[in-house]
Amino acid sequence: MSGASGTGGLRRHHVKMSRIAIVSAMAQELHGLQQGLSGARCVQRAGREFWTGRLGAHDAVLVLSRIGKVAAATTVTLLLAEFGVERVLFTGVAGGLGPARVGDIVVADTLLQHDMDASPLFPRYEVPLYGLSQFPVDAGLSAALQVAAASALAGLHLEHLADFGIAEPRVRRGLILSGDRFVASAPEAAALQHAFPAALAVEMEGAAVAQVCHDFGVPFAVLRSISDRADDSAHVDFERFIADVASRCTVAILSAFTAT
Ligand code: SAH
Repeated sequence: MSGASGTGGLRRHHVKMSRIAIVSAMAQELHGLQQGLSGARCVQRAGREFWTGRLGAHDAVLVLSRIGKVAAATTVTLLLAEFGVERVLFTGVAGGLGPARVGDIVVADTLLQHDMDASPLFPRYEVPLYGLSQFPVDAGLSAALQVAAASALAGLHLEHLADFGIAEPRVRRGLILSGDRFVASAPEAAALQHAFPAALAVEMEGAAVAQVCHDFGVPFAVLRSISDRADDSAHVDFERFIADVASRCTVAILSAFTAT
């Protein structure tokens, strides 16, 4: 800030805002967020479109990750290595486990790759050479997201919720499982629940995001709307839920989050 006179205007101009990335798995969510992005510019890298601009009070980059762990890892690596991103939020939908019902929001506190198995060389689920199976999120960022989720849910009137049997959606915090598999059978969901009784959701990207952010030492958080119960009707619930509910929920939550 050399030569700054100390006026409010100058100070605002010189303060470097920490850039936040919002990574969506689903195009519908990304489109909703893009509406609120001002001064939007698009940069193409590795077949992805990175949208930079201002979102609420934040300098932001929005991008679609595509689906699965590798796609998410590539996307987040680019954000951290080439876009100067200092915080990462991942949003998407997920299958609910345990108490998590369709319509609930799950904010991760730890993430694990349920399809990682290098046994007997390493304990099952441990990511080789990390000595870790569960990757913790950034507590502050996740707490802020949880608060934003609670206030957004309270203010949302989603006319289609009753169709999904959603009475009062809840915000939950806990373990999220990730793997390169759309879990759509009751036995498979039960097996995951048995292996991880505390798990609240299963999806296909979060733990990969966690591993990349761990490598770079960058704070991150993962927010999921529960779109299905990872059982035999998962594929049916899924498409309708995204269109009717999830994208609007996510946009409302992230608007609440980025407003401050
Ligand atoms: N028909 C969709 C397919 C999405 S794949 C399309 O063409 O775009 C599923 C996406 O939702 C992934 O991003 C994953 O993270 C999440 N997801 C939702 N329910 C899931 C479940 N039961 N098992 C695994 N991933 C799930």
